This record gives sequence, C-alpha cells and structure tokens, in this order.
Amino acid sequence: MSNHYIYDPDLEGFSKVESGEHSALKRGEVLISVKVVGICGSDINRLVHKIDKPAIGHEWVGKVLRSESDRFKSGDWVTSGAHVACLECPQCKNGIYSQCTQRKLLGGEGVATILAQETVLREEELIPLPTPRDEKEMRRMSLLEVAFIGDCAFSQAKRIGLQKEDKVLVFGAGPVGLFSALAFKERGFDVKIIEPRKERLGLAEEVDIDTVAFSRALIEGNHFNKYDVVVDCSGDSYGAGAISVLGKFAKIFGKVVIVGRYKKANLIEMDFFEKSLVAAWVSNHQHSEFLKSIEYWFSRLEKIPDSWQTAFPIEQINEAFEVAKTRSHLKCCLYLNKKEGVHDE
Ligand SMILES: [Zn+2]
Ligand SMILES: [Zn+2]
Repeated sequence: MSNHYIYDPDLEGFSKVESGEHSALKRGEVLISVKVVGICGSDINRLVHKIDKPAIGHEWVGKVLRSESDRFKSGDWVTSGAHVACLECPQCKNGIYSQCTQRKLLGGEGVATILAQETVLREEELIPLPTPRDEKEMRRMSLLEVAFIGDCAFSQAKRIGLQKEDKVLVFGAGPVGLFSALAFKERGFDVKIIEPRKERLGLAEEVDIDTVAFSRALIEGNHFNKYDVVVDCSGDSYGAGAISVLGKFAKIFGKVVIVGRYKKANLIEMDFFEKSLVAAWVSNHQHSEFLKSIEYWFSRLEKIPDSWQTAFPIEQINEAFEVAKTRSHLKCCLYLNKKEGVHDE
C-alpha cells in the first residue's frame, strides 16, 4: 500500500492519503519509489505565507520500480528538477515535453507529488543518479539539487570574469550559501562566508570555510572594498536579503552574483557609490548542467558533515516541517520508505 501526503490548511499540517494501486504506465512514464525528500526554504515560505494549495517538495532521490521508458529500468536511481512539464500546453499535447512553455512546480495542483511513497514521472523529467553505497550516501544525495545551485553561482561568476586569485565573499550560510561557498572552495578559491547567526557560521566552519560575523563587519567596516566577487545567497523570496550592503564589500571593479530571490529590494544609489560592478543572476537551471554538477559532487558527498542534515521518517512529516520552520537546522529531510533502505530487493 502506497501513501502520499497533502497539506491541509485547516489542520495547518499534512495528512496521509492512501494512493491506491497505480494504473498501467503510459509510454515514457516511470513509477518511482521516493526515498528521501529535502525540505527547501521555498517550501517553508509557501507554508508560512499561507499560499493556497502550496507546491511542496522538489529536492528528492528515488529508485525506479517500473518503467515504460527505454532510458530507465527498474532499480535505477533518479531525481528531477523542481519543475515538470504541464502536460497541457500545445507542446506537451504534441509530446514535446522538453519544450513545455508552462512548466509547473512538483507537488502543485494537478502535478505529480514526491511527498509520496510512490510517484509517476515522465522520462523527460528524470535525471539518472549513481547507486548509493549506503543509507548515508542516499540521504546526502538529496542535497545534490542544492549543490547544483551552488555550482550555478560558480558558473555565473565565471561568466562575468572570475579570476584564479579572486577573493570571494558569500552572503548567507543557509543551504544555498554553504553550497555556493563550497563550490568555490572545492575549485581552489579563497572564499569566506558572512552571516548574522552564530550557529550557521559554525556549520561553515565544519567544512573549513572562513567566516565573517555580519553585524561586526558592518560596524567595523574592515571587510569593505575587499572582495573581487560577492555572492548573495541571503534572499529568501520574502525580505530584501543583503542586496543593499553587497556593494560595500565588493572592490571597485567587483563582480556580483545574485542567487537568492527578493520580494522587495530597493537599490539605493549611495549603496553602490563609486563602484563599477558587473552582476549576474542565477535563475536558469538546465538539466544538462545538473548532470554535470551531479558528476562533480557525487564523489564529494562524503565531505558534507552529518550535521548539515536532520532526517525524519515520513510519519513525522509535521514535526519535520515545524523543525524546518525554525531554520535552526540546515536541512531537514524526510525518509519516505525508511523500512526499505537502499537495497530493498
Ligand atoms: Zn529547493
Ligand atoms: Zn506543457
């Protein structure tokens, strides 16, 4: 028996729904046993801000149970991007799913959810993953999507002229900030991370990334005009992030990479006084780039400290979201099929 979990606004929590038997797969469809789902900051935002019918869950790994695709077979490990084809637009109707013009977030209305023990996705959405050696590796694999965002920040910095000797400062030590900093560090760059919360700075120190305490740096001004590249990972879709102070930390001819999102961010001329900055925005996430990123990070998953993840069995989904809301843990994740583990044949 397979279950899925839907958000009930009256309960302000998730309830379990029996999915019943999956009907016969259509050509190109794949039935997946979802293994681990990471809770994203954007999931939490949708709940906290009471978005109607929130689309929850898009960072995941799973294993193919049955397949009507030549590209995937039973036992393969897979993930996907956050958005999937709508199945309704003219391109989808013509079977050209990769050119869908109205891609939708997983878990939204009328879209497959991965908050399910079993889910069906089309082959075009799926990205192959190596087989994890053990449960720990399986859990860390759910971080590959965030690691990819970090890689996107790195490649945008390269696009606007990143140099080998550049000093890099990453704003925000949430999951995206930490992985962005790691993306630079792993490639040999001098990178620091700046963040107001002490616990978060501690998480950066666990992977030997130098840290800067945000308020002190603002008061003392001793980090101003020092960085060739500043990367803003502090935007959480609702506030203004650190965008108004980025300019102070960048060198005159510095580079700026914006990773986070802002609801309202005012750019005041004085904040960027006498600076000549080049900026790039991380937003477009290509499947092909995700594949390269997975290849890069899979062999490096061991470097991710256990403290970066807190795992819950799916039965504790509501507790997991409550803990995630406190944002005191870096990444909460859910085991959808805990009993089965990695090798369930
Ligand atoms: Zn996410
Ligand atoms: Zn479509």
